[in-house]
Amino acid sequence: MSCISPDIKSELGLVQVYTGNGKGKTTAALGLAFRAAGRGLEILMIQFLKPPANYGEHISAEKVPNFTILPLGLDHMLSKVPRDIDIKIARETLQRAKEEIYSGKYDLVILDEINVAMDWKLLSPDEVIGMLKGRPKNIEIVLTGRGAPNEIVEYADLVTEMVPVKHPFDKGTGAREGIEY
Ligand code: ATP
Ligand code: MG
Repeated sequence: MSCISPDIKSELGLVQVYTGNGKGKTTAALGLAFRAAGRGLEILMIQFLKPPANYGEHISAEKVPNFTILPLGLDHMLSKVPRDIDIKIARETLQRAKEEIYSGKYDLVILDEINVAMDWKLLSPDEVIGMLKGRPKNIEIVLTGRGAPNEIVEYADLVTEMVPVKHPFDKGTGAREGIEY
């Protein structure tokens, strides 16, 4: 793709956070990826806590050459009491995120559900912030998930909180293909 303007990358390098209990955090990040892809930016989404299941976004990303999604979670629902294996996988995923970010190959890196991993004490905010501080210049970062810790909110440049007002789940409607996954 050659629609990239010369100074587009020089304006990148902020940290964005999408948090809160309302729906729309992961899909907001996917919307940003869709916009950035049109500008020819290289985008990576690493998904913490999500298995390589058949999400609609995985199918779509295969059709976009400059957008890669890596779902690196375990194939099970994490309970509120994390096991050693949950901590181990979260740490490995953070290490992978560091390698990919520090490789300089990507302009926009989305760490999907990493806020949840910190909220559940699988990762500490300090180690995540430490990793982000040492990254190469001009890489925009997005951190999604409920329960972003205060340290992350303070460190970020942009924070949006999704507030639930209504959700069809409350009336018994389950997750719908193409809408929730
Ligand atoms: P989405 O992926 O649709 O943007 P999200 O990233 O904001 O949602 P998560 O906190 O990751 O939401 O929750 C995972 C699942 O729970 C998603 O399928 C999402 O649609 C659904 N969900 C989000 N908010 C609510 C809510 N307030 N009540 C019930 N289900 C919700
Ligand atoms: Mg989400």
